[in-house]
Amino acid sequence: MDELKLHVLGSGTPQPNKERWGSGFIVESENELLMFDCGPASTYKMIQMDIDPRKVNSLFFTHHHSDHDLDYPTFLLTRWETSLGEEEELEIFGPPPTVKLTNKLIGLEDGAFAHDLIARTKHPLSLNSYQRRGGKLPRKLPSFKPNDISPGDIVKRRYWSVKSALAEHVQPFLDSLAYRLEIGGKSIVFTGDTRPCESVEKLSYQADYLVCLCIALQEQIQGTPEADFMMGHLDAGELARNAKVKNLILVHEALNISSENNFLGAIKDINKIFKGNVIQSYEMTTYDLF
Ligand SMILES: [Zn+2]
Repeated sequence: MDELKLHVLGSGTPQPNKERWGSGFIVESENELLMFDCGPASTYKMIQMDIDPRKVNSLFFTHHHSDHDLDYPTFLLTRWETSLGEEEELEIFGPPPTVKLTNKLIGLEDGAFAHDLIARTKHPLSLNSYQRRGGKLPRKLPSFKPNDISPGDIVKRRYWSVKSALAEHVQPFLDSLAYRLEIGGKSIVFTGDTRPCESVEKLSYQADYLVCLCIALQEQIQGTPEADFMMGHLDAGELARNAKVKNLILVHEALNISSENNFLGAIKDINKIFKGNVIQSYEMTTYDLF
């Protein structure tokens, strides 16, 4: 393995600010681009970072809150529109309703974007543009492969495996998963949105990197539902300590924690309980995973 990178597309919340908006991550190795969540503007941020959406071959959703999937139609349709029909198929995984959502977006019967797919595969204007870019007729319709998965499921491919575990978030309204990616001898856990829970701690055990929800400073969420269904900075530190991970990467931050002063204070607090490395994440930034 020559290199392993984490591209942070989105590391914020549903409420955008100039620095952060939604969730989206890409792990890049020599052979693969795996995407975790597809929050608002993920595709735009990928283009800004010189990441080709067509090269993403797997997409995993932690759950279907909009700050984790709002850019999904943009990603699917941009990937298809710019494709020449020769690249690998995109595999998509997530808790229900991943399959239903995908079909509702791009299904040819009554999908929200069926009209666009039909127009672009039938009208000479689009077909000419497709041929000019090197495409060969007949132009194929998208063939994305969505899969609903459950806690404990393992997806194994040639260069990596992903194991899912229950994330306790806003059930029963939405199912939520955390993921552990094993790739190139490294393990990277994405907690998604969850409160501290045994299943995520077990999944994270001795991981090299824990990409962990940290919505706010602990004292700012004390006594609110955010303390019951998400994680503050001390929760993240305790999870990292209990799971004995090597590196803790904080993501999904609201404004009050992502300001530089608050974050430096948060790191000091976390270091009292977790002795490993704590990394602040910034959007549209790439981290080398050694
Ligand atoms: Zn959520």
